Amino acid sequence: MVDVGLREVGDVGLNRVSRSCALALVSVVAALLGGCEPQEDQSATGQEVTPPSQFEWKLVTTWPKNLPGLGTAPERLAETVDVMSAGRLKIKVYAANELVPAFEVFDAVSEGSAEMGHGAAYYWRGKAPIAAIFATVPFGMTALEMNAWLHHGGGLELWRELYGRFGVIPMAAGNSGVQMAGWFNKEINTPADLQGLKMRIPGLGGEVFQRAGGVAVSLPGSEIFTSLQTGVIDATEWVGPYNDLAFGFQEIARYYYYPGWHEPGPTIEAIVNQDAFNALPDDLKKILETACRATNQDMLDEFTARNADSLKTLVEEHGVEIRRLPDEVLDEFRKLSAEVLAESADDELAQRILDSYTEFLNRMREYHAVTEQAYLNAR
Ligand code: CA
Repeated sequence: MVDVGLREVGDVGLNRVSRSCALALVSVVAALLGGCEPQEDQSATGQEVTPPSQFEWKLVTTWPKNLPGLGTAPERLAETVDVMSAGRLKIKVYAANELVPAFEVFDAVSEGSAEMGHGAAYYWRGKAPIAAIFATVPFGMTALEMNAWLHHGGGLELWRELYGRFGVIPMAAGNSGVQMAGWFNKEINTPADLQGLKMRIPGLGGEVFQRAGGVAVSLPGSEIFTSLQTGVIDATEWVGPYNDLAFGFQEIARYYYYPGWHEPGPTIEAIVNQDAFNALPDDLKKILETACRATNQDMLDEFTARNADSLKTLVEEHGVEIRRLPDEVLDEFRKLSAEVLAESADDELAQRILDSYTEFLNRMREYHAVTEQAYLNAR
């Protein structure tokens, strides 16, 4: 108990002098307790060590600072956890590049230099190609279907098995809903118009775009605007009207194409260092998981409401031309998507993940044909 008490005193910022007084006091008490050396910890005396009751974590994100929706979600998550835990679990959020660059978030959490991260699984295809499935699959599941698969269809268990290889625990912590196909300065009328086109498009969608004759570039959010403006890329997808309006793409691109065939409902993830998570008492573990689940739903709600407002603003105030990708182009992307997905299963676990995803998607296809899809067509 002496050791824990000292740590708590140290945490509230005792100065060097009083800290050394406290250390001297520990030495005296320890000597009185039976002559053990002061540097020995409690376990050596056979007493149980009280786990710390206060946790201070760092959360690194792949998002620019204060980006609406994606960037503000981890801030809200941290605030929710703070209130629910009565201040026992404090999470400080760092935007991309504040602590580590966007694409080093996974490694930072895996190595434990940050306890937590917020990003998207398709950024980690270099770790495991199948990881992208846990963000989104071209022509795959919508937000509603992803949430059903993850939380009631075995998806989350498989995701945890995959990330477990890296000492990381994933949780769903956001979804943007169906995205837009992206911003172009050139009309896309046939698959031939994609030839040599340099586009920022990540994940499996990027691989499909590449096979369709384009050049797929993966860039973090903070680098997209300048890259498009200076001609480093010819086109870009980002998220949807809400985030795209905030980035100002309407100022540098003419056509805004739909539908987001490549991202029909991407899951945004919270990732937690396994050792850090295991060190939490059960109530804080539950609070963290529950707060992630709430953030997961809240982001979708926010995007759905704000996307609708922002689309109207883009068209009415900025004169953006909204265009649908031609069927011929969508057919080409669909055909290539099936090939790319099949090739992502590069080992036994990846195959199990792909089988589970495919089986669930097929079930959803049948079920939603007579529910969501039939209803939206009838409305
Ligand atoms: Ca996107």
